[in-house]
Amino acid sequence: MIVLGSTGSIGRNTLAVAHQFNLSIETLVAGKNIALLNQQIALFKPKFVVIADKNDASALKAQGAKVFFGKEGILEALQHSTSDLVINALVGFAGLEPTISAITLGKKIALANKETLVTAGWLIDESKIIPVDSEHFSLWYLTSNKAFKELTITASGGAFRDTPLELIPLQSAKEALKHPNWQMGNKITIDSASMVNKLFELLEAYWLFKTPKINALIERSSMIHALVKYQDESVGLHLAKPDMKLAIAYALNPDLASQTPLIPPTQFEDFCSLKLEKIDCERYPLWTLKDKLLANPKLGVVLNASNEVAVEGFLQDRYPFGAMIDLIFKAMETFCTLPSLQTLQEIQTLDREVRAFTQALI
Ligand code: NDP
Repeated sequence: MIVLGSTGSIGRNTLAVAHQFNLSIETLVAGKNIALLNQQIALFKPKFVVIADKNDASALKAQGAKVFFGKEGILEALQHSTSDLVINALVGFAGLEPTISAITLGKKIALANKETLVTAGWLIDESKIIPVDSEHFSLWYLTSNKAFKELTITASGGAFRDTPLELIPLQSAKEALKHPNWQMGNKITIDSASMVNKLFELLEAYWLFKTPKINALIERSSMIHALVKYQDESVGLHLAKPDMKLAIAYALNPDLASQTPLIPPTQFEDFCSLKLEKIDCERYPLWTLKDKLLANPKLGVVLNASNEVAVEGFLQDRYPFGAMIDLIFKAMETFCTLPSLQTLQEIQTLDREVRAFTQALI
């Protein structure tokens, strides 16, 4: 298979599962972490390797693999690879074009890159997508061949779920990166603290399961991942200890995954104290955008572009958490009326405009 973003949090978990399942890797794509990529190349001996920057080529130990560079290099490597499964674990808008290209090439996509669906869900054939996000994996698990009325996913509440309200706007990136339950990449960890991650996941579910009847509740342990209300008014829950290997294993090989315990053992008693809570808009002001986004899901392009710019500046310590939230609100207010957005080019144009607008506010 082909692993995009092999050196990241999802990429590393994917390779751990691939190693355990004895699956071969044809192509590895990474950004700047050449030291880790070299270790992955030594272990998996891929035919093709992509790195973000040609200047890093001298540090790369390709061991005979053909090497490509940059954004174009990812698309070239996809064309050369014969594998029919792509794991897209790139972060951000950079993941969109590779998803579209891989679908055009007839490949299946195990999709962790949620920004693909947030910014272009209407261009993506969902029958080619296997969801890797834990909540959407659980929705898939619960809805297989079953009609449903409503869907709910859960949120942990992120780093500031217990911070006094008046102190949240003053927090730094260092504090926002302390996620209570998951070890993930920096961007998604910040998105969890702001609740943008959950807005993204509503849009992901909207496009994957073709319903606007989707909500989120807080469940602090991240053991309940999703709830489905069926036509008969009964409700199904999917529970598992928080470990991305479960969803990844099903994406790689559902038959092996259903027979192999890859996550820590579960006792029913582990679930005795679980509780679901409503998301408080005072603590998570961006959650007020939920209904607007579900009514006009193409606004995901604006949310994503402004969020990527705002998070980048926040991670560089240019402003505190509250200023990051304000930047996103300003972009959402300014770009509330959208052009028709039929094509990838139109999406890319709007993405550039929103980024320039947000950058100019900083
Ligand atoms: P990370 O930041 O940990 O990893 C991102 C990966 O993308 C790294 O391998 C990075 O390379 C690579 N990358 C970044 N920019 C480029 C580029 N220009 N060219 C090539 N490769 C690049 O992110 P996560 O693994 O946490 O998340 C990946 C995606 O999965 C995100 O969309 C996230 O929202 C989603 N997701 C993540 C979950 C998690 O548990 N982490 C859970 C559910 C969804 P390098 O490090 O070498 O620079």
